[in-house]
Amino acid sequence: MPTHETTHHAAARARSQASEKSGTGDGEDAATLEELREAARGCRRCPLWRDATQTVFGEGAADARVVFVGEQPGDREDIAGRPFVGPAGEMFDAILAEAGIDRSETYVTNAVKHFKFEPRGKRRIHSKPNVGEIQACRWWLDRELGFVAPKIVVALGATAARALLGKAVPITKMRGQTVAREDGPDIFFTVHPSYLLRIRDAAARSAEREKFLTDLVSIRRHLDR
Ligand code: SF4
Repeated sequence: MPTHETTHHAAARARSQASEKSGTGDGEDAATLEELREAARGCRRCPLWRDATQTVFGEGAADARVVFVGEQPGDREDIAGRPFVGPAGEMFDAILAEAGIDRSETYVTNAVKHFKFEPRGKRRIHSKPNVGEIQACRWWLDRELGFVAPKIVVALGATAARALLGKAVPITKMRGQTVAREDGPDIFFTVHPSYLLRIRDAAARSAEREKFLTDLVSIRRHLDR
């Protein structure tokens, strides 16, 4: 009997293979965000599609004024085919609400759209995407941002910052700052919510959570301007 997970996995793979057969995969001709999403199902621009279940494309309001960019889908997102649904996503949702930002008016996506992992027994351990993978997947991110055309893009962590600026960004130094660009939306830098989950000490975690909340409040103010 297949498990719940493997059934999902097989169905997603079948969809991905169908997209590949139908000739999609580069999204060059996509006229809408939805067409771009469809095309991304069959992407083979880097090797990460091979072991992942499916492409996890961004989702949210197609005309959002703020786009949040994370690193890559995690184990739960890979199975669900949706971004920010795992533990970090749940925490992110809660802090977003506290900051007064309506999630339904935002768009969330990742710099890299396939789950990269190392198998360890039955578990799949998150593995950081490399520069080549980030660069390859920027193809999708740039087009997503082109369609959504937000006022501000929030880089959640170093991978997103690299994808958005095309170079390494010292997140601890840039955190809380906005870089204004003439040829695109402003970029705001902060940490990835999964960072908060990795802090063991309760007091330190709570302090970092407050800092993250402060960052989100400044994003809301930026949007109100
Ligand atoms: S990670 Fe991005 S570039 Fe690589 S195969 Fe997946 S969608 Fe394509």
